[in-house]
Amino acid sequence: MEPPPGQATRPDQLPPEAWRAIDPIAGEVVRRCWRTGRGFLVLTTLRCLLLWRRRELLRTKEWEVSPEVMLYNVQPPRVLFGRFVEIAPAYDEGEAAIRAGVQDPYSVAEEVAEAIPDARRAWDQRRAAAQAEFEAHRKRHDAIAAALAAGVPAPVPRVPCRYCGNPMPITARRCPSCGAPAG
Ligand SMILES: [Zn+2]
Repeated sequence: MEPPPGQATRPDQLPPEAWRAIDPIAGEVVRRCWRTGRGFLVLTTLRCLLLWRRRELLRTKEWEVSPEVMLYNVQPPRVLFGRFVEIAPAYDEGEAAIRAGVQDPYSVAEEVAEAIPDARRAWDQRRAAAQAEFEAHRKRHDAIAAALAAGVPAPVPRVPCRYCGNPMPITARRCPSCGAPAG
């Protein structure tokens, strides 16, 4: 897939106030940003996301991230109508696909496709590290179970992360071990 001549996509700069909205996962780095519609398509080492803000009659609202696609669960990027790049989850976990109009969708699709193998490796490493932590956690859990049996108050309920399996607080938005979103 060759970009059309004279339309090479240049990286765009994110405004500093938009960085906060990204809420980076520990160890995550932004690889590229492309201007689109009301914001940016952002490619990081772990995910792809749309960063934009709603406009209302009298004011522009805060930056928000929606949708985002974790690169462990992603289809090969597609170009739609020669104008939009689509980055869609491979299997349905309730996330929407990203469809962004960008200046050069073919080179954007190509660049995202090139980033996916690295991202999968990064997620695999996070999962392996999180599983090691899970073993350590299970030992602590056994100690808590013993304490409970002895009449000590119960800890916050936990559910397994759907990606790495590590227990996470039922109220958490994101797995503290690997960074995957809560189910
Ligand atoms: Zn996890």
